[in-house]
Amino acid sequence: MNVPASVPNWSVPDVFEPDGTEELPPELTRSSEPTSDTRTAGSADEPPRRDLTSGSGADGTGPTSSGAERQAGKGSGTGKSGGTTKGTGTAAAGIRTDVEPADLSTLLSVAVAAVGGSERDGQTAMAEAVGNAIESGEHLAVQAGTGTGKSLAYLVPAIRHAVTAHTTVVVSTATIALQRQLVDRDLPRLADALADSLGRRPTFAILKGRRNYLCLNRIHGNAPDEPDEGALFDAFAASSLEREVRRVHDWASDTETGDRDELVPGVSERAWRQVSVTGNECLGAHRCPVGSDCFAEQARNEAGRADIVVTNHALLAIDALDDRPVLPEHDMVVVDEAHDLVDRVTTAAGGELSGNAIKQAARKCGRAVEEEIADRLNEAGEGLEFVLGELEPGRVGEPSHQLSAALSGIRDAASACVNALGPEQREDVESGSARKLALAPTQEIQDTAIRLLDGFEEPEQDRRDVIWISAENNRPPSLQVAPLGVGGLLRERLFGQRTTVLTSATLALGGSFDTLASQWGLPPQREAKPATDTATAQEPPSDDSEPSWVGLDVGSPFDYPRSGILYVARHLPKPGRDGLPDAYLDELTELVTAAGGRTLGLFSSMRAARQASEQLRERLSTPVLCQGEDSTSQLVGSFAEDPATSLFGTLSLWQGVDVPGQSLQLVVMDRIPFPRPDDPLASARQQAISARGGNGFITVAGTHAALLLAQGAGRLLRSAADRGVIAILDPRLSTARYGGFLRASLPPFWNTENPEVVRGALRRLDEAAG
Ligand code: SF4
Repeated sequence: MNVPASVPNWSVPDVFEPDGTEELPPELTRSSEPTSDTRTAGSADEPPRRDLTSGSGADGTGPTSSGAERQAGKGSGTGKSGGTTKGTGTAAAGIRTDVEPADLSTLLSVAVAAVGGSERDGQTAMAEAVGNAIESGEHLAVQAGTGTGKSLAYLVPAIRHAVTAHTTVVVSTATIALQRQLVDRDLPRLADALADSLGRRPTFAILKGRRNYLCLNRIHGNAPDEPDEGALFDAFAASSLEREVRRVHDWASDTETGDRDELVPGVSERAWRQVSVTGNECLGAHRCPVGSDCFAEQARNEAGRADIVVTNHALLAIDALDDRPVLPEHDMVVVDEAHDLVDRVTTAAGGELSGNAIKQAARKCGRAVEEEIADRLNEAGEGLEFVLGELEPGRVGEPSHQLSAALSGIRDAASACVNALGPEQREDVESGSARKLALAPTQEIQDTAIRLLDGFEEPEQDRRDVIWISAENNRPPSLQVAPLGVGGLLRERLFGQRTTVLTSATLALGGSFDTLASQWGLPPQREAKPATDTATAQEPPSDDSEPSWVGLDVGSPFDYPRSGILYVARHLPKPGRDGLPDAYLDELTELVTAAGGRTLGLFSSMRAARQASEQLRERLSTPVLCQGEDSTSQLVGSFAEDPATSLFGTLSLWQGVDVPGQSLQLVVMDRIPFPRPDDPLASARQQAISARGGNGFITVAGTHAALLLAQGAGRLLRSAADRGVIAILDPRLSTARYGGFLRASLPPFWNTENPEVVRGALRRLDEAAG
């Protein structure tokens, strides 16, 4: 790594100068040397571009390799070539058979030119690797830093594959922001740009869970309202709920998609519940009187005809978990924001039982079954509420007699309701809707109770599930269950079914992909062999049952050592349990003052964020905003508009802030973001790995912290012109043994532990910004 030896002097924004007496490193003597960004913009010393033609020769005759043919066979018969798809604006009909799809290299050049960008080495290498994965069927993990243009690098080969092999490629994201970027910006531009080279305009669609679409059956009044306890006793809540639901009814006649995200301003969760259904609550398009106009069905049909389907990790997980597919037939998946995959799949594979949810289900059953049977379920809910109220939150090893009895009672009462509701009958739409709305949650309660009771049968160390009582955010206690690991599930239901490309700016933790790969259920990465290498007698036999994968780090076009400083406040005390120590607040004050505001404060708890905001407002002349004081998007907007403003907050800001330019030149993190020691799932996973002889702390807590640190640090440099400082107040990043692993998970910033040096750099940056 080429790290400058002297501190950046940003008084001239794009020039990295020595500070004081420090020696200028040789590579900085040529101040006119182009940065990596200007090099990749097509300067004279740009390396020759690689040929990305994957196995089809350089003549651009399209994929004729056996790999492509195999995939064509798999995806044939989808009949999507004549369909129209949301967002494309043009029908996919009219394939020009006289046009051979161009090779990948040409398509990438066309795509980059169309979006007004410049070709970048990392982007080219990534597109080539994705093309190879498609050809070989070998899974791929790609770390692509900010500024690589990774969405183009996977979309172009994915589109080419979908079009040439007549199949669908699914692209999954963790956040709505990325989903929107793909569907509203990247894919429309690519579809236009690539149409001529591919012989037709590629199509795309977005697909979400059914709950995200308006249910017309409910809008038409064919299904009963959700029982809402809050509104029952609170007239104000009732009228605000009524207003929201009325607004959705008005919107229903205007919307073309019924997609909740398009309703602006949005409505509360309880209002949306009145107008939507889950997949299990849906009557089924064949029985539903408005099934032919149904928004969710339209989205599904459009997705079935599309080349690229954008979805989220939760739906991807449900598709893998459920025997009934929710995604259209596809032979390849791209998982963007793959650092979040394990958490999202864990949530989708988990379950919850609370007194409230059981009583709610009982009220729904009360409309369709005998009162006595529904009452039994209601009493079982009250019983659970009482038992959980007596127990401490945290992991449950041996259940108490009362807890076991409560669970058995819930299982039996739910089962009685399910039996009484019975299978689908010849009934009118209203009765059928009421029955479905009662059956879905009651069946889920029955299944979860059985899963918990089965789990308790096993000794704790042998369980595949972790069970705990949660009482967070002042909510009534609930019983939670989640799988100890999701690797087996992903290995069998994702990697075992189709070629998968996983990508993110952060995948190689501590410099290796293996930590995350083990959580995904993939074996350790094999050493890359030279192309000419051949198998020898000494080589161990390969395990054919293991999914084969390769890891690739394409770096970032950003010049981290020249653009950013990583400052660790080694002189501070270790963080304590009782809020932020005074020394932290003093350090924070001096840093923000030197930066002239422009600070994003990422705190490990809301309590710390509030404490810092209150204290710094008294000490500073520049404004400080705190998460929770307005909607996060409003706060981020105000922060971006005024460089003097600082924004403090917690988890959602660690990943959700994209503010290039001079409003964000300092990112402060109060402590290494380890999971809480009493986090039931993390501690159970940690223990299980240690029991097998592994390093549970690094694999679980270290991975969690490394991912968040890297995500937080990723907020600083959002464009090649950005400059700034990452300040970690927690000295353990320098002093603890695991510090090296964590630091190796961060981009190669210039490092210092000297507060004077970093404040000087911030002041120069502030002055340069003016
Ligand atoms: S098909 Fe299902 S989701 Fe669609 S309108 Fe009918 S009940 Fe609602």
